[in-house]
Amino acid sequence: MVTRMLGAHGEAADTSWMNSGKCREYPPNTFFPSDSVGVSIARRICAVCPMKAICLEYALDNQIEHGIWGGTSERARRRMVRARLNMAQLDTAAS
Ligand code: SF4
Repeated sequence: MVTRMLGAHGEAADTSWMNSGKCREYPPNTFFPSDSVGVSIARRICAVCPMKAICLEYALDNQIEHGIWGGTSERARRRMVRARLNMAQLDTAAS
């Protein structure tokens, strides 16, 4: 089954990869932990998931703020977004 949602830029996003994620084997709340122990548990599951890279890109592209995606916490994704913005600004300044 192919699931489609709107992507960050309004285009149809293919989310069929979600059907192959390891998280399908666990209760959804596993990936919305309330403490650092829960974050570690979710991250260990993501570490062996074949969809890890695409999952992380999906979360970054769609600015998903909550939960563990691609093995990253909300805080880690905020840092990644800031780093990407800084790189983009450097690229713009250099051109
Ligand atoms: S990386 Fe984690 S959250 Fe993403 S699909 Fe895999 S198990 Fe699910």
